[in-house]
Amino acid sequence: MIINPSYRSLLIFLLSAAAFPSLHAQELLEINTVQRCIYSGGLMDEELYRFSDSDRVGAWIKELAELGEAAADFEWMQANVENVSAVLDGEKRYLLYSLDFIEKSNRTEVLGALAHEIGHHANAHTFSAERRKTEELEADQFMGYVLSKKGVSKQDIESFLKKIPSSYEPTYAERRAAVFEGFDKAERALQIRSLPFDDDPRLEGLTLPGFPWPPPSCNARFEVPESTFSGCKTLGEVERKLRTALDAKGYAQRSYFSAPNGFALVTQLEQYNAADGSVRNDRTRWLDYPAKDNFAGLLDYLTSFVMPQKGYFRLFVFIVTNQAFGGSAQRVSKDQATAWLSQGFNKLPRPLAAAPFSTGYDVTALVYEFEVPESNRKPVQKCPSPLFDALTHLRKSGLAKGLGF
Ligand SMILES: [Zn+2]
Repeated sequence: MIINPSYRSLLIFLLSAAAFPSLHAQELLEINTVQRCIYSGGLMDEELYRFSDSDRVGAWIKELAELGEAAADFEWMQANVENVSAVLDGEKRYLLYSLDFIEKSNRTEVLGALAHEIGHHANAHTFSAERRKTEELEADQFMGYVLSKKGVSKQDIESFLKKIPSSYEPTYAERRAAVFEGFDKAERALQIRSLPFDDDPRLEGLTLPGFPWPPPSCNARFEVPESTFSGCKTLGEVERKLRTALDAKGYAQRSYFSAPNGFALVTQLEQYNAADGSVRNDRTRWLDYPAKDNFAGLLDYLTSFVMPQKGYFRLFVFIVTNQAFGGSAQRVSKDQATAWLSQGFNKLPRPLAAAPFSTGYDVTALVYEFEVPESNRKPVQKCPSPLFDALTHLRKSGLAKGLGF
């Protein structure tokens, strides 16, 4: 067939336009995507391209990060990914989104997928194989938290989870539990904030989950010197001092519970160096576990590890109260210990923070130790003889210095 030259150039033009529809709007994205989460599907093209950004999507990302009380300290861009993806390349964090996915999905799907990936960055995840399940469920919890604040219903979230399954290990039931845990947390906080007065009787029903009282035994105990909190007039000011010291030493995950006339602050379970009680400066420090309804989460998680040697774990509980207390005969049950970490609030509610810190109040640090023996790898509480006294734990963790003693 002979094609008229002018038709031929037209044909070449049309063919190249079809093959490279937006050549001018794309650039090759040279980032290492080994450490990543893809919301669904799991696969990633060999060559990634960046396309011009959508202001609308950028605004959603900023809003979702803000609702999750997270810094939007990652770079977002439109790229040829399946849906939405969080990537860690060295020190740099990226959120890649497909505009095609966003345009053909409903509101819950778009916000949910974006929130999940933002949740990975908000929690400083590393996407390592051994932490994958924990990280996926943490990201899901973050998603539930922000979707609740955004007014998305639980039914819509359920259909979304069913329609677009995870690329990774967690089952539908596990994801649903994690998402709704975040959702409920946001709702509780919202209910409290929406009450017009601090003495509203409805607050009664919405108080913080209570810390087991008296605290379970088998802890190492230390009364924090009064001088640390001299000048504090409210429980909120005491909490701020504790929080500052904890933040400075990397204890970013915390839960708050009520205690008689005060509160209890529980830190995340942490692995420490058994030789001297010091902090582990590597990824093994936060060998935490998915927040679940029972301790199986921790057991499963730890036993899935090949522990090259014995592992020692601890968690700190700071109790601020004006009531004397001893230890209960009860040890920390698996349910309780998990509940402390998953059921508490992530902030001290305002009415409690405003309560006066007056004469008679003490701040007590309790340290609970757990040991994972090499032999069977099942964690057990160190009881009755803890490895270190509470003051040693407080000093070696750097918390004593932060609190000025
Ligand atoms: Zn993920």
